[in-house]
Amino acid sequence: MTESLHLTVAEVVRETADAHTLVFDAALPFAPGQFLTLRLPDGTARCYSLCCGPGERLMVTVKRVTGGHASNWICDNVAAGSVLEALPPSGVFTPRSPDGDFLLLAGGSGITPVLSILKTALARGRGRIVLVYANRDEESVIFAAALRELAAAHPDRLTVVHWLESVQGLPAAPRLASLLRPYQAYEAFVCGPGGFMDACCEALAGLGAARPKVERFVSLGGDPFAAPEPVEGAGGTLEAELDGSVTSHAWPEGTPLLDVLLAGGVEAPYSCREGACSACACRVVEGEVKMLANEVLDEADLSDGWVLACQAIPLTDHVRITYSEDPAAG
Ligand SMILES: Cc1cc2nc3c(=O)[nH]c(=O)nc-3n(C[C@H](O)[C@H](O)[C@H](O)COP(=O)(O)OP(=O)(O)OC[C@H]3O[C@@H](n4cnc5c(N)ncnc54)[C@H](O)[C@@H]3O)c2cc1C
Repeated sequence: MTESLHLTVAEVVRETADAHTLVFDAALPFAPGQFLTLRLPDGTARCYSLCCGPGERLMVTVKRVTGGHASNWICDNVAAGSVLEALPPSGVFTPRSPDGDFLLLAGGSGITPVLSILKTALARGRGRIVLVYANRDEESVIFAAALRELAAAHPDRLTVVHWLESVQGLPAAPRLASLLRPYQAYEAFVCGPGGFMDACCEALAGLGAARPKVERFVSLGGDPFAAPEPVEGAGGTLEAELDGSVTSHAWPEGTPLLDVLLAGGVEAPYSCREGACSACACRVVEGEVKMLANEVLDEADLSDGWVLACQAIPLTDHVRITYSEDPAAG
């Protein structure tokens, strides 16, 4: 089972009236676009995307949700010196290489993973980056000053387009399409409220662009910090490669892949355990599985062999999977 971390908050930055950044006194390896899963003292677990770039301390930004349990608790209670339990960075909303042209589409708090991708691409890549950032009004723009500074420092590589609902109205697909047309060949990432993401996907599809990667900000239902259940029963076999080690397991029919690995003592990554977050994504390199639910992987991910371990059950007697990002691995 993945060991949880205890992260000390070094500083809390009030970004807007309802968004707080927690800066942790920690530097951990992460890929841009990944998230942490935080656990509140009452046991509630929620995912928050890292918004930091290379060389920065770990940071997440939490925006209050009206009536929301965790976001309001965090904004009301977490201060410098607070210690939060967390699962390590995970998720697949991340570019294969920082060295491409990126079209980044963010709405509201959806800016967080996008900012991490943006900072990493500027620091480590050479391509052009266009950020379209939609907000209700000027006061609700998180990271406005940081984005101004980045655009001023990289005028030839970064273009930031703000879309304010108070000025331009809702970002509907037809108007987005005209804005996005020149960048339809860029690698696109979309994160924000459901309606915004649907409009972006519709606009890109209408332009004949490749499907963007999307990250959905849902609340977890289960407890990803809980101990795994024992797994029993007849079935096939599973071989799993994680961090260079290969392990073999019996795989009882109908049992999710993640449960088999955790029961077998493998420290496989995961978070929501309900097909909503992609922390447990791995690739099938031999055999076949089917997923019981999948809210995050798109057609391109599926055709590359990605599956969600928490939802994958076996269709063949033998399955081999890898957690390596390298298509030649496994
Ligand atoms: C991969 C990932 C990354 C994320 N990154 C971020 C991030 O960077 N920043 C960020 O701010 N958020 C992020 N989120 C979202 C975050 O995890 C939470 O979902 C968000 O903070 C809301 O949680 P909450 O506990 O405050 O709200 P919840 O208590 O889960 O409530 C959400 C909404 O549902 C309503 N609701 C709750 N219970 C009921 C009920 N019984 N009946 C009807 N309505 C109900 C609430 O009123 C509220 O409007 C991310 C999510 C994921 C999956």
